[in-house]
Amino acid sequence: MTTKRPEDRALELRRQIEDANHRYYVLEDPQLSDADYDELLRELLDLEDRYPEIRTSDSPTQRVGAAPAERFAPYEHHVPMLSLANATSSHDLRAFDERVRKLADKEHSYVVELKIDGLATSLRYRNGKFERGGTRGDGQVGEDVTPNLRTVSSIPLRLRAAKSVPDDIEVRGEVYLRKSDFEALNRAREQAGLPPFANPRNAASGGVRQLDPRLTAERKLSFFAYNVVMRNITVTTQWEALQYLKDLGLAVNPNIAHCKSVDDVIAYCEQWESKRDELDYEIDGVVVKVDDLQAQEKLGAAGRDPRWAIAYKFKPREARTKLLDIVITVGRTGTLNPNAVLEPVQIGGVTVRNATLHNAEYIRSNDIRVGDTVLVTRAGDVIPRVVGPILSERKGNPRRFVMPDRCPVCGSDVDHPEGEAMSRCTNAACPAQVLERVRHFCSRGAMDIEGIGDVMAAQLTELGLVREISDIYALDEKKLSAVPRTGEKTIANLIRNIESSKSRGLARVMTGLGIRFVGTQTAQILAADFGSIGDIAAASAEELQRCEGIGPEVASSVSLFFQQRANGAMIERLRKRGVSMTAPKRARAAAGKLAGKTFVLTGTLANLTRDEAAALITEAGGKVTGSVSKKTDYVVAGGEPGSKYDKAQSLGVTILDEKGLRKLLSS
Ligand code: NAD
Repeated sequence: MTTKRPEDRALELRRQIEDANHRYYVLEDPQLSDADYDELLRELLDLEDRYPEIRTSDSPTQRVGAAPAERFAPYEHHVPMLSLANATSSHDLRAFDERVRKLADKEHSYVVELKIDGLATSLRYRNGKFERGGTRGDGQVGEDVTPNLRTVSSIPLRLRAAKSVPDDIEVRGEVYLRKSDFEALNRAREQAGLPPFANPRNAASGGVRQLDPRLTAERKLSFFAYNVVMRNITVTTQWEALQYLKDLGLAVNPNIAHCKSVDDVIAYCEQWESKRDELDYEIDGVVVKVDDLQAQEKLGAAGRDPRWAIAYKFKPREARTKLLDIVITVGRTGTLNPNAVLEPVQIGGVTVRNATLHNAEYIRSNDIRVGDTVLVTRAGDVIPRVVGPILSERKGNPRRFVMPDRCPVCGSDVDHPEGEAMSRCTNAACPAQVLERVRHFCSRGAMDIEGIGDVMAAQLTELGLVREISDIYALDEKKLSAVPRTGEKTIANLIRNIESSKSRGLARVMTGLGIRFVGTQTAQILAADFGSIGDIAAASAEELQRCEGIGPEVASSVSLFFQQRANGAMIERLRKRGVSMTAPKRARAAAGKLAGKTFVLTGTLANLTRDEAAALITEAGGKVTGSVSKKTDYVVAGGEPGSKYDKAQSLGVTILDEKGLRKLLSS
C-alpha cells in the first residue's frame, strides 16, 4: 500500500469510498463497518492534505453522502446540508478547540449535543405550516419525502409560537427510531416471517424512504430538531436556537449542555460514552458546536465539513470477524435458534464470541456461510447480531447452512409451519425446552426464585429432578442433596426461596408459564380481570379478548395453552403443592381510587419498576394497557419515555411523572 504512488492510492480509496457510500446511503446495505469506512476516509483526507495537487472536486472528501435516489422528486437545499468532521479522542477535541481559537481569534464556548444515529432531514415551514421535507442526499439535493414525514408524530404539522410564527423557516434534525420501537418492529417482522432490520438507523432510514407513507407510519419514527435556518435570524447562539425550536413545539433532545471549556466538552463526551445504553435511542457520538452563530459564519466550512463543529465518535459497536460455526439452541417454546460462533472480537469494549443469526431465512437471504468474514454489530443492550458476510473476502464456495430436520437435543422431528420464520422441535418434553421453561419460571420477572439461575436450572433438569415446572415445588432436602457441590446452607436457602415464591400471586405465575405472547403486562391484565387461573383457563378466546389490550393472537395462544391436557395437569399439581394462583379481582378493586381509569406506562421511573407501578395502579382499580389511544386517561412517563409520550402529547392525554402518580394514588 505504501509503495503506491499517492495519486494511485487516492484513486483506489475514492473508488472504495464511493462504493461504500452507494451501499450505505442508497442500497442501505453496508458491507464495511463504520469504523473501517471512517479509516478509509481519514486516509484519503490525509493523503489529499499532504498532496493538495491530487485533490479532485468530485472526491468523496469534498462531497456529502450520495446522490438522491431517482424514485423521489428532488428536494433542493438552498443552504447546503453538510457532514461533520470526526474526532475519536480527547486529543482530536483539543486540536479542534485550538483551531477554533486560532481562526476565530478568541475563546468560544460550545454547545454539546448527543449525536443521534438516524437520518438527517430538513423540514420547511411556511407561515407556521409544515410544507415540505427532504433527506440530506448529497448535501445540495435530497429526496422529497414530505408525505412520509407527515406520519412522524413528533414532527408538528403546525408550529406553536407564543408571539408570532416565522413566515419561512427551515428546521433540521434527525429522524430516528427508538430502541423499544425497533425491537417491537423486529418482533412483528419475525412473526410475519420477514427478515429483521439490522439496526435502528437502517430501519429509520428505510422508513423515511418508503414509497407508501402507510409503511413509514408503521415504523413509528421519531424526530429531534437540532438546527434552524431562516432568513431573518432572531437568535444569536446555538443555545438560543435550540430553545427557540422548543418554543415552536419541536422536540429537542433534553441532554444538551453548554460547555465553557474544552475540558467540559471532553467530560461530557466521556460521560455519555459510558451512559449511552441508558437511552431508548441509539447515539453514536457527541456533536460539539461553537455557540456563537456569528463566529460560526466566520469560521465557515472546509470541503464537506463546517469548521465550527465536530462529531466526537464513540468507540465502534461493529467489527469484522470470522464465522467459525453455526450452532442450534432450543428455546422454551421449542424454537430452533441458530447462533453464530465467532472468532472472539472486541466491540465497544466487550469481547463478543457469539451472535444471533435469527432464523434460517435470515441466514439464507443474507447469504451467510460458515468460514465467511462477517460484519457483527452490538447495539445498546441488544444481543450481538451478524449483519452479513463481506463477500469480497469469501474464499471458494463454502457450504450453505441447512436447518436440521431433527432436534439437535432430543432427536425428535422438527416442524417448520408454513408462513412462520422459526422451526420448532415437536417434543414438549425435550430437555432443552424444559430447561428454558424452568429458567424462565424462576427468573426475576416471573416467580423470582433466587438460587435457581442458569447453572442450577441446568443441573436440576439434567439430573431429572425437574421434568416440568411443578416439580420445583416437589424439591426437598433429599432431592437437592443429589446436586453436586450443593451444601446444607445452599439447600436450606433454596427451600426457603421456593417456599416464599408460592405466594407471589397469579400475575407472576401467568408470566412464568411462558405462554406465547404473554409477557408481564398481559399477565397482569389477565390476572386482574379474571382473579383466578381457573377462570382464565375456562374463558373462551372471545371472552379473553374482552380484556383491554388483549388481541386475537394473544387470546388464541392463551386458550390453546389451557386446552392442552398436560398443562391442566401441571397447573393442578402447582395448586396441590401450595402455589397461590389468585389475584385481587378488578371487580373488587373497582371501588378503588383509580376505578375506571386507564393508564399507559413509558420510560424509566426513578423509584418504581414498571411492574411495580402497574401493580399499584391495578390494586387501586385502574387498568394498565400497552398503547395510547383517546380512551387513555393517563400516561405515566419516566426518563427517556418512548413514542407513547409523543402520542399522548398529540392526543392531549394527561401525562404524569412518578410523583404525580403517587399523588393520584394517595389523593
Ligand atoms: P456523520 O454521521 O459523521 O455526521 C453528520 C451527521 O450527524 C448529520 O448529517 C446528522 O445526520 C447527524 N447528527 C446527529 N445528531 C446531530 C446533532 N445533534 N447535530 C448535528 N448533526 C447531528 O456524517 P455522515 O456524512 O452523515 O455519515 C458519515 C458516517 O456514516 C461515517 O462516519 C460512517 O460511520 C457512516 N458511513 C458508513 C458507511 C459504511 O459503509 N459503513 C458508508 C458511508 C457512511
